[in-house]
Parts: sequence; C-alpha cells; structure tokens
Amino acid sequence: MPKYDYLILSPHFDDAVLSCSARILAASRQKKKILVATVFSETSNAPDDLEKSRQRKDEDDKAMSFVGADSVWLGFADAPWRSPHYSSFSRIIGQPAASDFEFQQEVGRRIANLWQEVQPETTLLPLAVGEHIDHRIVYQARHALPPYCNLEFYEDRPYVFPKGMLELRLTAIAGSDEDRDLRRFRELLSNLSAVHIYKSGRAALTYGWLLAMARRIRKPPVDAPLLEPRLIKFEEADLQMVLNAMSFYDSQIKGLFGTLAEYEEECRAYAALLSEAAYAERYWIRIHTRRQAFDIIKR
Ligand SMILES: [Zn+2]
Repeated sequence: MPKYDYLILSPHFDDAVLSCSARILAASRQKKKILVATVFSETSNAPDDLEKSRQRKDEDDKAMSFVGADSVWLGFADAPWRSPHYSSFSRIIGQPAASDFEFQQEVGRRIANLWQEVQPETTLLPLAVGEHIDHRIVYQARHALPPYCNLEFYEDRPYVFPKGMLELRLTAIAGSDEDRDLRRFRELLSNLSAVHIYKSGRAALTYGWLLAMARRIRKPPVDAPLLEPRLIKFEEADLQMVLNAMSFYDSQIKGLFGTLAEYEEECRAYAALLSEAAYAERYWIRIHTRRQAFDIIKR
C-alpha cells in the first residue's frame, strides 16, 4: 500500500460520504491522497444479500471515484449478520453482543495494521453519534492506534441531525454528572415533538433509543478522550457536490432520508444551526491531556 495523507474509517459504505464528503472533496482538490476504509463491508452468502452487497459495492466504487478517494473494504460482517443478538434496531444501539468484545479487538488490530501500512497524516473515525454498534466498534479502534497519531472524529450523519443526539453521545463518551444528565435527558424527552429520529412516524423508536442512551449515561467511562470541536464552513457549490456524491448511494437514500431533496433540507438546517455558511461539517479533534503527552514523550 502507498502512503496516504488521510485515512478515513467508514463503518458502512455510505458513512464517509454522508459525514465527511465536503472535506474529502476539498482535500482531493488540494491533491491530497485519501484512503477510505469501509470496515463492515460484508453481509451473508444468501443470494439476495449477495446481490444487495454487489450493488452497494458498485455504488461505493462510483462515489469514491467521484470524490477522488481510494477505497479498501475490510470485509467484516454488519451487526445483523454477525450475531443473532442484533435482531432489531433497538438492539443494534443497545448493549453489545458478548462475542463483540473479542471481535472489537480483532477489528482494532486490522485497522492498526492498515494504519501502519499507509502512515496517514490524519486519521478520521466516527464519533458514533446514534450509538450504532458498528460505529461504536470503529470509534473504539482508537485504542489500537499509536497514541501520537492525529485523530479526529466526525459527526455521524444522519444520526447527528435530531436535536440533542450529539449532546447525548458526548455525554456517553465523557462520562457525566448523573443527576444533571438525567435531568437533561428528561428535558429532552419532554421536548421531543414526537417527530423523529430523522423522520416522522418513528417516535416510538426514538423513545426506545433515548431510553437506551439514558442507561448508558449512568456508566461514565474511564478512558474518555478530550475533544475539541473544529468547524469547517463550505459554500453553496460545495453543498451541490456533496449531494452529487451522496446520489451514488441510491439504494440507501430512501431508507435514510426519503429523497435526496429531503437530505438537502436536513443538511441546510444543520449547517444553519452551526454557522451562517450554506454547508458545514464539524470534526472533534482528540487532544492529549498533560499526562498523556508526557507518556508519549517517554516512548
Ligand atoms: Zn453506518
């Protein structure tokens, strides 16, 4: 493998383009070398699944060549095909299957090997907003990477669009003052206009999702990274390019947003929330604490 400027870890085929495409397009205009690694790129061997998988790979090839990135598929199986534990969406965002603890190490080792091969200047991982188990496993791969590497986390779209979702994820990552967070969580529930995860008619699902997260908030992790936000603003023309890139993932659009126009609307609304720009992407840079910095120097 050649060396790359950027290594972008994408849990599924569409995640890197959904969440980072304006940045990928800008980097590729600057002649940067970008590698997108899709971690969960396999389903089952059933003929129907194989056909869908072929279609998704074909879509991914086209999207990658449009945005100017190379791609590699790491060949792990999506949650529902990996374990019967993940029989519903609420289980996919809930407690991991017991077998996934060992599996997570395996994914981490694979990603670390790839990192060593391509020696990227910057590595992008999902923040795992929305708590999808596959996204969480890729987020956890940060432990397998060298402590000195430049790590940034991207906000998983469309999970990040509904109000409060990012806050919940940052709380789950950073640990929390339980009383304050449970109070905020209740506020969030009471403010929920029974609209959506992202679309109407899924309020029950949203409710289950929030409950699952409230349970997670009770357990502050000890290994929380320190994160600093970095907002990147883009123009109208960039947004149009982002929509063009997304249009290659034809099989996913209906399930995710309904139509591309609805996706555009969501993108504009989110950009308006972040800044005055027509389009914006926010990244969370991992910064080292003093203690960690000393540990790195000692190596
Ligand atoms: Zn995904």
